[in-house]
Amino acid sequence: MRRLAVQGLTVICILVATGVVAALLHARDRREIADLRTERAERSYAVVRDLTQSSLSNLEQIAVTLGALRRPLDGRLGSFTRGAMHERSLSGVGYVLHVAGSDRGAFERSHGFRISVPGTGQSAPRRAAYDVLTAAVARRGGNPQAAIGADYSAVPSEAALFSRAVSTGRPQASSPRRSPFSGRPVVVVMAPVFRADRPTRTPAERRHALRGFIAGMYSTTELMAAVDRALPADTQVRVSSDGMALAGSASPEPDDWVGDLPVAGRQWTVHVASRSGDLGPWEWVVGILGAGLAALAASAFALDARRERRALDLVGDRMAERDAADAQLRRERDWSKAVIGSIQDGFAVTEGPTIVHVNDRLCELTGFSREELVGTAPPFPFWPVEKIEELDATIARFRREGHLEAEATFCRRDGDRFPVLLTAGTVPGPDGAVRGTITTVKDISERKRYEERLAQLAAEDPLTGLLNHRSFHERLAEEVARTERTQRPLALVLLDLDHFKQVNDTLGHPVGDKVLVEVAARLRDVTRAGEHLARVGGEEFAWLLPEADAAGAVAAAERAREAIRATPFALGGTLTISAGVCTLAEAGGESRELYRLADTALYRAKAAGRDRVVPFGPMPAVAS
Ligand code: GH3
Ligand code: MG
Ligand code: MG
Repeated sequence: MRRLAVQGLTVICILVATGVVAALLHARDRREIADLRTERAERSYAVVRDLTQSSLSNLEQIAVTLGALRRPLDGRLGSFTRGAMHERSLSGVGYVLHVAGSDRGAFERSHGFRISVPGTGQSAPRRAAYDVLTAAVARRGGNPQAAIGADYSAVPSEAALFSRAVSTGRPQASSPRRSPFSGRPVVVVMAPVFRADRPTRTPAERRHALRGFIAGMYSTTELMAAVDRALPADTQVRVSSDGMALAGSASPEPDDWVGDLPVAGRQWTVHVASRSGDLGPWEWVVGILGAGLAALAASAFALDARRERRALDLVGDRMAERDAADAQLRRERDWSKAVIGSIQDGFAVTEGPTIVHVNDRLCELTGFSREELVGTAPPFPFWPVEKIEELDATIARFRREGHLEAEATFCRRDGDRFPVLLTAGTVPGPDGAVRGTITTVKDISERKRYEERLAQLAAEDPLTGLLNHRSFHERLAEEVARTERTQRPLALVLLDLDHFKQVNDTLGHPVGDKVLVEVAARLRDVTRAGEHLARVGGEEFAWLLPEADAAGAVAAAERAREAIRATPFALGGTLTISAGVCTLAEAGGESRELYRLADTALYRAKAAGRDRVVPFGPMPAVAS
């Protein structure tokens, strides 16, 4: 019996000891659980903050871009916002125009509506300024509010939002409310739009520069759904402001994690709740007191606690996975930045029509700073004003073909023009639709200079720098075609040095070359603007004279003859030259015939004893 009692006591002692050990193990697990839970709450808070702020930054981007547009805004907002709305929770975007009191009459006439007090339909009272909703674009079809002439600043809650947005210069959120259009819970955010050409440093300057507001309506249901999607499965978040909750699922309990989140000029309260089946303190009591039960319960607690720890570990793993993905993203972004930075050409990225990124090289090329370029839309500051039509055509072509390689002229900040090669492609958004463009800008000044020099070299006689045979005939064809249109006269003089062979024979070919260079210079001296002088053979020259009749051409040829014979050459003694003259009219308007007849006249000049000018037709009276 005593032995039985000892055995029983031993069993009880073992069971109690097991219970105590299990409870101690459990206490250690609870501490770890508490730590993990704090960490998770902080991460949940970060998710809420990031999502809210990324939603707002879109809106702010639209406002900044609209402010940079110098063109009228009406009608442009639709296409603009459609491109910019990626946020699922952004359920509508409106533009609230700020109209001065003195402009009210003109504004109402041009828009065809009365500015009224919202909700009453009554005409707005006389005031210094009005805020008028002129256009709104709803996502996914429904509710296309357009051209509503409502004086929103007559509504006290809106007026407070407007004035906070102007005095801070930043987007301001309303408290949660019901959408007047859809009846669904929304938060309205007003982002002020300022004119880009006015200073906006102080509240007073901002009041002067105010153009209006971009009003974004965020569906709180979808915003919270996005938050929920980004959180671990057993964590729930509730976001509220002024005691009103956004559509969050959890209801607050005393041991929830609570934090403050200042966004868009409001304080938001964030509750993070974990609903994963907690272990209460009563389990301790049961654990220590119940002998047989205690052992079972204790091991059950240990198991339970282990299960919760495993669950939390899993959450931890998931978060670690997300951290790894974030790190990978950051690495990819750094890599893209490095790649973009190492591009030697100028480089711009647009989202919709607006430049959102430029590299240093583009700033260096154009002389504009990053701040002056980012946020601009066509017409861009580097596009020359006189070539705006070309810009429109280039954009249209790009839209049609989806890519572009084209030469264009850019305008530096100091007004200098320079040639560029543009290569553009589209950037798809996450949904596959075109989100923007990416364009490289290569300065091709050097290449253009080289090409021009090549063209010049190809047109030039290398010895004298005059036009060569080929380019002379091109000019001749052009002038003949022009004369056909204008019916103006055109004459040709062909010149050939007399007995030039002797210069070569007595002084050598190289000296002959130098003499030819001097002949060319003397002939060039007697030509006038608009005339074309060429070396068409060894020591033969052709001289095309637009606007000259036979008398004028003979007189010009005489000037040339005099220029050659009057002064001895530095190396070759005295030289003479013979010339044949013909007009296009005498050649029946045909260029080949003109050349042939001028050559015939030159032949006659040689035959008649050289050093003379012979016209193909009768010697004109003035020149004889
Ligand atoms: P003319 O015209 O009066 O009948 O006599 P010419 O001696 O000038 O005869 P022609 O016009 O037929 O001869 C052309 C000569 O010009 C032949 C050649 O010695 C010389 N010549 C042609 N091309 C060049 C050149 O590029 N350099 C030099 N130095 N001489 C040339
Ligand atoms: Mg000759
Ligand atoms: Mg000759």
